[in-house]
Amino acid sequence: MAQATTTIKQVLNHQADHGSWFAANQALFNRVAAFYFEVIQAHENVLDLSNKDALTALEKLTHTTQSNPHPVMPLCEIQEDIPAMFRRAAINAALGSARSFSSHLARWRKRKEKAEAKGKQFHERPPVPPRSWNKSVTLYMGLWKERSNSSLVIKVWTGTCWSWVKVRITGRELPPGAEMGSPSLVRRGNQWWLHTPVEKQFKSPGNIEEQVTTNAQTKMCAVDLNIHENLAVCTIQTVEGTILATKFIHGGREISGFRKKLLGRIARNRHKTGIIAEGEQDNADLWNTIRNVDEQVAHLVSARIVQCAKEHEATVLVFEHLGTLKPAKGKYSHRGNSKRAYWMKGRIFKYCQYKAYNEGILTSRVNPRNTSRECARCQSLVARYDTGKPPEGYTYGAPLVSCHQCGMKGNADRNASLVIGQRLVMRYQKNGEGKPPTPLLVERVSRDTGVVVSQDAGCKEGPSIPSAGHGDSNEHGTAQETGTGMVAPVSDIPCQLRLLLE
Ligand SMILES: [Zn+2]
Repeated sequence: MAQATTTIKQVLNHQADHGSWFAANQALFNRVAAFYFEVIQAHENVLDLSNKDALTALEKLTHTTQSNPHPVMPLCEIQEDIPAMFRRAAINAALGSARSFSSHLARWRKRKEKAEAKGKQFHERPPVPPRSWNKSVTLYMGLWKERSNSSLVIKVWTGTCWSWVKVRITGRELPPGAEMGSPSLVRRGNQWWLHTPVEKQFKSPGNIEEQVTTNAQTKMCAVDLNIHENLAVCTIQTVEGTILATKFIHGGREISGFRKKLLGRIARNRHKTGIIAEGEQDNADLWNTIRNVDEQVAHLVSARIVQCAKEHEATVLVFEHLGTLKPAKGKYSHRGNSKRAYWMKGRIFKYCQYKAYNEGILTSRVNPRNTSRECARCQSLVARYDTGKPPEGYTYGAPLVSCHQCGMKGNADRNASLVIGQRLVMRYQKNGEGKPPTPLLVERVSRDTGVVVSQDAGCKEGPSIPSAGHGDSNEHGTAQETGTGMVAPVSDIPCQLRLLLE
């Protein structure tokens, strides 16, 4: 069984003065966490214990009870009457920080030793313990009750006493039957949110190599990400090469135009004010807007890619590795724009990875070399050109491709996504199927980097076998232009990405 965790975020609607209670509650939580961090620093061997044993040890050091009347570092010096579950949540927060700090420190010491052993000067500064604490309060069992879809009662420190407060919650409801973790009380600006981790169990998807090598009907969703109008083009294809569907996700021009406008405004503001203060963000609101819109688009696009894969029952999602960022020339707004468009591609991939994993779909990346220059049908180099121009040469970013070898004509991004899908299959095609390997192909494929599967999603996938020879090109170049061209947009999501522009 595999497991995926999502966080359900809900807005808290509460009386105005309760906001200051939540703030007081959080401040106390962080004081307690900081206190325990100190205790751990004074008793470092605590970190050798498991979290559970460390908790017991730390309570013994700090918590006054009848059997433990004089703890070494009493917590009651911070505050009396802290509920046990509040204390334990703070201890676990402190333990997390302490473990992270300690491993950073250990790594730093190792680097230092290594440098000194080589007789080099070592200038890197050691990691420092957290100077300030700003953790959100985790509400363990016993600190909340009577949870419904619209309200919840929580226990908070109001600044003067402990009190049960009823709050209304709005936003996404908890999925029925999901396993719920401890919610936390999170502050965003002046707004308080309830974040609830939810765990979902599902059957583990088989690893990609197995899926590709054992079943020729395995469906893959190959995605070509772009920075021009077609932000993403997905093609659903089977391992043996049948193309089942194509989906274009537009909206690139809109987001790019929007960004350009704001970047232009930032440039003009900078020109007016002259000097930019060091270490201070200028035009903070404009930057925030750009960032938020980029995030929003990345989430929308990734959600639609995964939905497309899911609808066609694809079990593997394939991307190409992101190339290196080529800095664009031209005006500030243009340079900044292409840089952000490039970052957005990375974010779309990242979001696809976890969204797909939650649906039991694995993600992989292939070598990006020449994906848009190669013919999906015969692997020879294609001409790329603008509408109304002769089909020759290679115009970067142009919408059409034409292959002089086999006569294939079509959309350039769609062709690229087909090539991306075929590359994944090629990687696993074993040598010795009776056909001699094509030298060109060997050279190209063996440079291929290993499968990058969502490691952070908890999936372990070994790198591909860099064996020479991946079969004859004709074998997997059977992709035909089957006329499936464009597929009607999925009905339950809007065709155009709607941006919340200004
Ligand atoms: Zn061709």
